[in-house]
Amino acid sequence: MKQSAYLVLNSGSSSLKFSLILSHNASTHLIGLAECLNSPDASISINYSETAKKQTISLPDADHKTILNKVLDVITAHSDKISLAGVGHRVVHGGEKFKASTLITNEVQQEIEACNPLAPLHNPANLLGIQQISTLMPELPQVAVFDTAFHQTIPEKAFLYALPYEYYQELGVRKYGFHGTSHQFVMQQAIETLDLDPESNGLITAHLGNGSSVCAIKNSKSIDTSMGLTPLAGLVMGTRSGDIDPGLHAFLVKKLDISLEQLTSILNKKSGLLGLSGETNDMRKLCQLAETGHLKAQIALEVFCYVLAKQIASLSVNLEQLNAIVFTGGIGENSALIRQKTVDNLAIFKLKLEPTLNKNNGDESGVISCSKTSSYKVMVIATNEELMIAKQTQSIIESGE
Ligand code: ADP
Repeated sequence: MKQSAYLVLNSGSSSLKFSLILSHNASTHLIGLAECLNSPDASISINYSETAKKQTISLPDADHKTILNKVLDVITAHSDKISLAGVGHRVVHGGEKFKASTLITNEVQQEIEACNPLAPLHNPANLLGIQQISTLMPELPQVAVFDTAFHQTIPEKAFLYALPYEYYQELGVRKYGFHGTSHQFVMQQAIETLDLDPESNGLITAHLGNGSSVCAIKNSKSIDTSMGLTPLAGLVMGTRSGDIDPGLHAFLVKKLDISLEQLTSILNKKSGLLGLSGETNDMRKLCQLAETGHLKAQIALEVFCYVLAKQIASLSVNLEQLNAIVFTGGIGENSALIRQKTVDNLAIFKLKLEPTLNKNNGDESGVISCSKTSSYKVMVIATNEELMIAKQTQSIIESGE
């Protein structure tokens, strides 16, 4: 008997991530990555979960269309076993228009396009994926799952910048926030694991990967987050600065005799952990360097954890209760050192981690805090944005919304 499955696509400008998730048990059938699109090195690598088989296909100069054609070929090669029920797309920016995931129609595509100025690097690439699937398999239902949607519950007092109000009204300048799918996924896991009331809870979720953000969640809704109009705001990241003094732009543009575009590129690509350490944006390597006594690597870790703790504390301000602080993402899920240093900076929260649990990235429920001394939990929960996208896609397609 054929198994129904959903294709999850994360279509970037030069890479494309995909996974095929089975409907009946939400397991991943295959996962793949196409890299170096539109270059001689373009290739697709695929991992098959069932057989642990790995496959690499070289497709020199392949564009999105060629890559997607090949991905669909690979899936239809399994058509005796798998029947594709729909495609879920990660779309970075849904502006204020999209407060939830949605079935993609021509009108929805136009509305996503209207959000392009807010995410000029990401949304056009996401749309390319949507358009190619429409061309190659026009009958297949497609769903857009937005990085920004979960944060649409943030109240005005938290999403407005103190700028002339018409910049918000006319230009859409406000905090949007990102990583919404991940924050929502780990929130649901935490609520389930801790058996919390979905209508009455308080959580802080910290998604720490190459890009990082913190989210404050009250009664299962995002009420504030550290990223802003763009993903440059908030925490120290791999190569992004996070929050800086807005007066710094004018100072540096003049002192370094560079353009605003050059400075923006420095803040996005040469700052953060890379800028501070002068060595790497990779947290694992940075921790190793710090251990060998590398001073700038140690400083980079200190700043990262201090800013993270400060964001956790400041975003907690409007919570009425706190049930758990949840760490996720490559750094959050794997680095006991970063979690410990962050908690050390939160002395006022009176938290204590249980060293063995922290070292092991949590017990089976993900808890790493001492049950005796902490009034609420610190947890490690592995994020799974693909699964979240597949579940939302399935739910929307099955309900015909
Ligand atoms: P992305 O945002 O690209 O999805 P990930 O969530 O995979 O990134 O996170 C990547 C980051 O996680 C890298 O900085 C990597 O070094 C870090 N990381 C992974 N494992 C560890 C570890 N054991 N200790 C410290 N950092 C780690």
